[in-house]
Amino acid sequence: MTRRLFVALASFGMAIMSHATTPVLVIHGGAGVIKRDMNPAKEKAVRAALTKALQDGYAQLKAGKPAIDAVTTAITVLEDDPNFNAGKGSVFTHDGKNEMDAAVMEGDSLRAGSVAGVHRVKNPILLARAVLEHSPHVMLVGDGAEEFAKEQGFTLVDPSYFRTDERWQQLQKALKEDAQKQPHADLETTRHFGTVGAVALDSEGHLAAGTSTGGMTDKRWGRVGDSPIIGAGTYANAQCAVSGTGWGEFYMRTVAAHEICMRVSLLNEPLQRAAAEVINQEIPSMGGNGGAIALDTSGNIAMPYNTDGMYRGWIGADGVPHVAIYDDEPDPSNQPPAASSTAASPSSSE
Ligand code: ASP
Repeated sequence: MTRRLFVALASFGMAIMSHATTPVLVIHGGAGVIKRDMNPAKEKAVRAALTKALQDGYAQLKAGKPAIDAVTTAITVLEDDPNFNAGKGSVFTHDGKNEMDAAVMEGDSLRAGSVAGVHRVKNPILLARAVLEHSPHVMLVGDGAEEFAKEQGFTLVDPSYFRTDERWQQLQKALKEDAQKQPHADLETTRHFGTVGAVALDSEGHLAAGTSTGGMTDKRWGRVGDSPIIGAGTYANAQCAVSGTGWGEFYMRTVAAHEICMRVSLLNEPLQRAAAEVINQEIPSMGGNGGAIALDTSGNIAMPYNTDGMYRGWIGADGVPHVAIYDDEPDPSNQPPAASSTAASPSSSE
């Protein structure tokens, strides 16, 4: 090889390398954590599951895979863990069933897939991804979604797979309070929490977002929340990716995830301010509550929430999984993330 050719190739390689983005993965396992409902064993199991989801998801990004692979890998880990309200461990409907919703979206292509009201799909996030990749549609519901799952070669599981005693007891408590017409403040809070979600930035600089949930304890009449609604609980574009968790009706009415990203994309608001204003101001001002995770192409992370805690985790340049639950634990919303190439601006309400 001539010296000239070698120099040209070397600088071409360096140019490519300097454009590679440092991958980042951010996850949540739901807002609305109530301290006194936690015991050390449960807390340990939750932290371990969040850590595994970060490690498995980040391995995809390190291998050069697209952001959507990290998102679906991380969410699958949490769906399989009974401590979260998604997949196994989903909350029960008023009729004693598990009815699950999930969505995934790619920021660069704006392709999206979602499913709602599925009863027998072990990993709803994978079915949402199949809708994105193998159907001409964005959203499939109920029996039709399960018909599509069969055609796609998904093995359907017996509905009893999703059942956990803890969720069953939560339903019994809700039914009793319904019968006594005694709304209980804590129950109102815990009914709609525990959803899982992920947002990722891959080495190409592309973003993706995904969310999976059993919805809300004691839900009726085929109720569907925000998680599978593109723009409400899940959204990604070329600049921003968001997954929400909280009282879904309010996320739908504010089109929360889309609004956060539009503030970033169109108004050039810093990610943390955009996310905090929607989650910690707009939604509570209407009577709702919850949290969200958000990520931009510079690797800035936002994790606002307005409940006792939010199961959350992030992993970036240092390759170390970070997990937090309560608000006395630092996270990138109040300190610059290790992976961030641009310092995150301080959030107005955290
Ligand atoms: N947002 C979900 C719903 O309303 C619940 C949750 O986040 O836990 O279905």
